[in-house]
Amino acid sequence: VIGYYNGQYVNPSEAVIAIEERGHEFGDGIYEVIRVYGGRPFLLDWHIERLLNSLEAIRIASPYDAAGYERLMQEVLDKSGEREASIYVQITRGSAVRNHLFPEQDTVPNVSIVVRPVAPKGEQTPGKLLMQPDERWANVYIKTLNLLPNIVAKQTAHDAGADEALLVRDGLMIESASSNLWFVRNGELITAPTDRYILPGITRRYVLELARDLGIPVREEKLPREQLSSVDAIFITGTLAEIFAIDTVLSHPSIPISTSLPDVALHPVTVTPDTCKTEW
Ligand code: PMP
Repeated sequence: VIGYYNGQYVNPSEAVIAIEERGHEFGDGIYEVIRVYGGRPFLLDWHIERLLNSLEAIRIASPYDAAGYERLMQEVLDKSGEREASIYVQITRGSAVRNHLFPEQDTVPNVSIVVRPVAPKGEQTPGKLLMQPDERWANVYIKTLNLLPNIVAKQTAHDAGADEALLVRDGLMIESASSNLWFVRNGELITAPTDRYILPGITRRYVLELARDLGIPVREEKLPREQLSSVDAIFITGTLAEIFAIDTVLSHPSIPISTSLPDVALHPVTVTPDTCKTEW
């Protein structure tokens, strides 16, 4: 494991960041996670494109251009010597006296990188999702550091014996806490369109490209949760999750699921506390 902070190599578990740092105090920053296979960062240009979009969306002037990020990440990766790894890159608005207003012009973004070895996934058994209300804000297409609703949803899923959340907004199935959501129905792939309510996953984009190359029809559409019973298969995608098959969807107390996937037992569970009484 290797850490990098503003030009220095650091131990990622040791304190290097000021308390009055906007990422630390406000979550005022963005991040990316890139998977390295065989020493090569996978789909790095797409990750850098999304990183630049995220910075622009929250009005942080990027400290590097695309080529600069590529060079920097390669340098830290080379220094780590890892070949199967994740690269975490975080950029915040900088260090400044705590104030909601953006700091003055001379504040420079802080850049953190952690390269960590990743064990390649072997054969996996299919997993479970726990349906839950999507309690995130209305700009989840920006990959910001503000992940509290995501981590609570993932923990709630974990506590119920599931691997991931299935987030529902306005009665529609959106995505998971840290992965995009896919359905297969009548030979067609179905996934939510890239509007402001999903994170435009790099793995999602790659799977779309694979589907196009293979001539598999794709529909970018949000399915109502009532249509869960009509799907033939479910999987989720993410940089570290890769492509992960799902065979069970657990219900949340506020949405009883009375249907089941073909050939799959559905196991309704009770999640406490019952946090969501409202319509969603
Ligand atoms: N949705 C959310 C909310 C995520 O956090 C992630 C992981 N960053 C994804 C989807 C999957 O995106 P990617 O394929 O780029 O990892």
